[in-house]
Amino acid sequence: MAQKYDFDLFTIGAGSGGVRASRIAAAHGARVAVAEERYLGGTCVNVGCIPKKLLVYASEFGDAFADAAGFGWAPGHPSFDWQKLIANKDREIERLNGVYERLLTGAGARVIRGRAELLDPHTIAIDGARITANHVLVATGGWPTVPQVAGADLGITSNEAFHLERMPRRPLIVGGGYIGVEFAGIFHGLGAQVTLVHRGPVFLRGFDDDLRHTLAEEMRKREFELHFGAVIGKMEPKSADVVRVTLGDGTVLEADLVLWATGRSPNSNGLGLERVGVATDRSGAVIVNEYSQSSVPNIYAIGDVTNRRNLTPVAIAEGHALADTLFGGRPRSVDYDNIPSAVFSQPPIGTVGLTEAEARERYGGVDVYKSAFRPLKHTLSGRDERAFMKLVVDQKSGRVLGAHMLGPDAGEIVQGLAIALKCGATKAQFDATIGIHPTAAEEFVTMREKA
Ligand code: NDP
Repeated sequence: MAQKYDFDLFTIGAGSGGVRASRIAAAHGARVAVAEERYLGGTCVNVGCIPKKLLVYASEFGDAFADAAGFGWAPGHPSFDWQKLIANKDREIERLNGVYERLLTGAGARVIRGRAELLDPHTIAIDGARITANHVLVATGGWPTVPQVAGADLGITSNEAFHLERMPRRPLIVGGGYIGVEFAGIFHGLGAQVTLVHRGPVFLRGFDDDLRHTLAEEMRKREFELHFGAVIGKMEPKSADVVRVTLGDGTVLEADLVLWATGRSPNSNGLGLERVGVATDRSGAVIVNEYSQSSVPNIYAIGDVTNRRNLTPVAIAEGHALADTLFGGRPRSVDYDNIPSAVFSQPPIGTVGLTEAEARERYGGVDVYKSAFRPLKHTLSGRDERAFMKLVVDQKSGRVLGAHMLGPDAGEIVQGLAIALKCGATKAQFDATIGIHPTAAEEFVTMREKA
């Protein structure tokens, strides 16, 4: 019998979420096509998590060389080559682009290069062709936003930061979210003198306040120049290599690079969404239900374009759940409770569950346990850096509601704790767990004094 549509699923966007949904749908036996106009793997693989983490690794060697002296090493005068780092990073990203393509084609999905646009709920125009599909998935991600400020175009966004020809010596970063704080750490670790300007009283809004303040303290110790409660008034060129930045209060700063890290918006323009009646919110995010279904029943959306929790593993979970729902005979939605995340700042943050403020608001009575200490390594390195850990506990049930850490390997440590929180672990169960000695992580099972 002839099929009514060319494909069972047409996915727009081959980022982390779109690829997972398409691959699993194909494995369930669906006929799948995926359109991608830019790069396979999307933001995370090309201009996000992966290259970011590679740059973070690069930026950590400076500290390692300095710390080595206390352990008897005489490391000499290492030099750093930005072009080499970027070339090596680009080679790895290219390899990953190929991996993503093979993940799709290997699963039997068809990859179509070009920009897709919806003509009606079942018809997509791409590259002069018309393709029909029973289900359509919008997985187009997000794009950096730049505020409207005089001279704003003298700055770049994270998209360009990964391809700079030269390492900036005096970068100025605007924004106090993940991207601003992470790039500040990267450039600082590579030897730049970094200024960060953030409009709020302290950066990383939404994170536990103790983490935010402790990170700010640690960064100031490392001579980051942090301007809080400050906005950009205007920007103008001073010379070929220098931008003059005037803050709202008249303070004038100079930088050889301005990086806008002021958030990202859903990538929903020009897809024909309005034409076919897909509802979006004021930010342009596709409005979806718990099954990622939009206001048009056969059109779905996942990942950053829905502006739910804008994290790669969340988009992947949403994509997998959708494929199982539509083609696997197993309707399911994603559980958004206790999603862990890390900020690869210097030092890094790992966090899961509720902040102290959120827990007090939701649960009323909470107990808080805190520990601040000098990591063992720094007793010999001499580095003046402290690690910080915190548990937030519901007084009534004893359940651990939040676990927060600032310090080396925070992301690696908190991933395990996230499982405990997901299982509803209590403080008593944390206490009954034997520590691994000597580690920083053991502190999470040895905190006894309420703060
Ligand atoms: P965020 O939304 O996290 O932060 C944006 C920052 O810019 C905030 O500090 C915000 O201030 C500030 N800001 C927003 N608009 C303006 C403005 N007009 N003028 C001045 N400041 C402004 O966005 P990011 O760009 O840092 O990251 C984008 C997304 O990418 C995040 O949502 C995150 O989920 C994801 N991501 C995750 C990473 C990870 O998991 N490690 C790493 C990198 C990105 P305010 O707080 O006052 O609103």
